[in-house]
Amino acid sequence: MRELTYVARRTVEWREAPDPRLRSDQEAIVAPVAATPCDVDSSILAGHGFIEPPFALGHECVARVVETGAAVTAVAPGDLVVVPWSINCGTCDRCRQSLTAHCASVPYMAMYGAPIGGSWGGLFSDLVRVPYADAMLVPLPAGLDPVAMASASDNWSLAWRLVAPHLKARPGARVLVVARGSIGLYVCDIARALGASEVLYVDPEPRHRALAEGFGAATAEALEPAPQGSFEIAVEATGRVDQLALTVKSLAPEGICESAGNHFRPGELPLLDMYLTGVTLRIARDNVRAHIPDALALAASGKVAPEKVVSDVIDWEDLPTALPEKHLKPVFVRAEA
Ligand SMILES: [Zn+2]
Ligand SMILES: [Zn+2]
Repeated sequence: MRELTYVARRTVEWREAPDPRLRSDQEAIVAPVAATPCDVDSSILAGHGFIEPPFALGHECVARVVETGAAVTAVAPGDLVVVPWSINCGTCDRCRQSLTAHCASVPYMAMYGAPIGGSWGGLFSDLVRVPYADAMLVPLPAGLDPVAMASASDNWSLAWRLVAPHLKARPGARVLVVARGSIGLYVCDIARALGASEVLYVDPEPRHRALAEGFGAATAEALEPAPQGSFEIAVEATGRVDQLALTVKSLAPEGICESAGNHFRPGELPLLDMYLTGVTLRIARDNVRAHIPDALALAASGKVAPEKVVSDVIDWEDLPTALPEKHLKPVFVRAEA
């Protein structure tokens, strides 16, 4: 089988690898049918990552189950499933606390699409081994389009987690979103659907702002240092510490800022201002498996439109040429036999 492999800045290529095989009765082999780059993959492709190539890329997809071990009961061959970005066992102490990005049964940072905690391959591959099928795989609810939900592995479900619990705790809150890619746009959609009284989306890219306006957000090219007291909830998804600093300065007293992280370069935060305002800053890799079902349920409710963020639908075979081009959220689709 082939793995799409990141080999150098703006360069990916198919490389042959042995077909994965079941190594225990808890495993599954799946074939991605709709896969998409996570926002962080754009940084990797631009050469801003911290892992030396080559490695198999991709950690967002909907896949078809091809084969399951004898102990697997939650999914069966033929099912369409969401494959979470991180590897987790479902039974260790941390998994039982829903800390699925911190599973104690696998090496630290075990994930698809980056060889940080062992080698698990990438989801832009013809076949993928899933080591804990019952714990990891989530069946795609009937009626949901694999193309629209390819990002449920990470960015869509992350966006749900960045804003949904906080809007539940603070109904009708005003929400600030400072972003550069799909995560921020999904947050706008979800925040409006869940009753935010106001959403301001900040991004220099006009096409992204137009999408945010379609979700009912006001928009701005750049974040002016806002008067303190403006927003109860803020989400920063730029990977830039200067933007995170501006974002926390826009919070209302005791406001909460969620950061999607991936700040590959250092920077400073205005800690005294944050202290005086009473800022809660959460910056955490997403324990995505725990809330993929909630994020899918919201998508199935019809109150949101994640398909609007999909910028291009591209044939699987075109991955090597099309992935390094600049797209917001291209989804690569494989024809099934
Ligand atoms: Zn990601
Ligand atoms: Zn675990």
